[in-house]
Amino acid sequence: MKYTPEKKPIYGETLDSLAQHLTAAGEKPFRARQVMEWLYKRRVGSWDEMTNLPKPLRAWLAEQFDIQPTRHVLTKEAGDVTDKLLLQLGDGSLIETVIIRVPQEGVGIEHSRKTVCVSTQVGCAYGCKFCASGLDGWKRDLSTGEIVSQLLQVCFVEDARTPRARPEIPSFDNIVVMGMGEPLANYDNLMAALKILNSDWALHFGARRITVSTSGLVPQIKRLADEKVQFRLAVSLHGATNEVRQQIMPVNKKWPLEELIPAVKLFAEKHGKMLTLEYILIEDINDMIEQAERLAEIAIDLHAHVNLIPYNTVEGLPWKRPSLTRQNKFLGILKSRNVSVTIRREKGHDINAACGQLRLQEEEKRQPAADSQ
Ligand code: SAH
Ligand code: SF4
Repeated sequence: MKYTPEKKPIYGETLDSLAQHLTAAGEKPFRARQVMEWLYKRRVGSWDEMTNLPKPLRAWLAEQFDIQPTRHVLTKEAGDVTDKLLLQLGDGSLIETVIIRVPQEGVGIEHSRKTVCVSTQVGCAYGCKFCASGLDGWKRDLSTGEIVSQLLQVCFVEDARTPRARPEIPSFDNIVVMGMGEPLANYDNLMAALKILNSDWALHFGARRITVSTSGLVPQIKRLADEKVQFRLAVSLHGATNEVRQQIMPVNKKWPLEELIPAVKLFAEKHGKMLTLEYILIEDINDMIEQAERLAEIAIDLHAHVNLIPYNTVEGLPWKRPSLTRQNKFLGILKSRNVSVTIRREKGHDINAACGQLRLQEEEKRQPAADSQ
């Protein structure tokens, strides 16, 4: 499904494209830099706050561009650690953007490291068996402007909590493209968004602090390896043999491990230590000793870091999180093979931390109203 909004989101424009629009309308191109300064450095949320622009120009911009392509409709908090923002798009679709604060010793939570998890699609077509995002299938891709706008929504929330001493200070430390959707299935819009975020006239956010997660789309992984701007890559492996992976990830039929691993290796060779293998631990499905042993071999071959994620239960799905003993056994095997490995002891479980779940609940609440129309 394609959604064409009445007005283009301003956050989808680059400095050059905006300057061109302005020139075509008889305005001075330097105004583009002023607009970007308001949007990304001072981070205002309305045209009227752009006080050094003449009023007629503000009115023209408001006619041409949407400054609110996402609306923040709900926040679910888990203590101070996780905020899950539910955002509504122009067509009423809902997406999730999550702020994860990692507490550090000796500093208050407001000065903790902050990672933002962004969505790239409404729903997901890949239908992994354990994931809430794919339960209802794919609805549409997010536009470049909708992706960038999610990060600005996070800036609004974080800047209200912890005012920035200077405009150039970032409001968060890392971006992980691990929310709803398969990022590499929306490749062009995602790359355009990440390049905007990386630009010095926008957030000037370092590419090495941006991780793109994929369920394993081989041609796009090869394309990403060739990008000039070097983003980090996380591959959702979740199974160390085709047999196990195929059971839970239908994408493995199209791109089995013998095709996926060489593509990932190509990326690793070009980008050094910028690769993570994500591995959800699901009881009796993929947490067996043989899987840990095979995973260790793959990780060593790829020089990859392994991130183990104990499964988050999803309502309506039969899978279970393994006991702590089983989790530790799996972890121990990787450690004993000298694999660089971490296990996520996440705090967001109680607010439905697994991607897509908050949106699913809200969609379900809306359902009766939609049916009665
Ligand atoms: N489509 C991409 C990125 C979004 S999914 C991908 O699959 O990599 C982001 C991460 O959340 C993936 O690693 C995914 O496997 C994980 N995830 C999905 N459902 C989960 C659940 N129920 N418990 C824990 N992690 C989950
Ligand atoms: Fe889609 Fe990723 Fe969820 Fe799989 S895990 S259904 S690819 S969002």
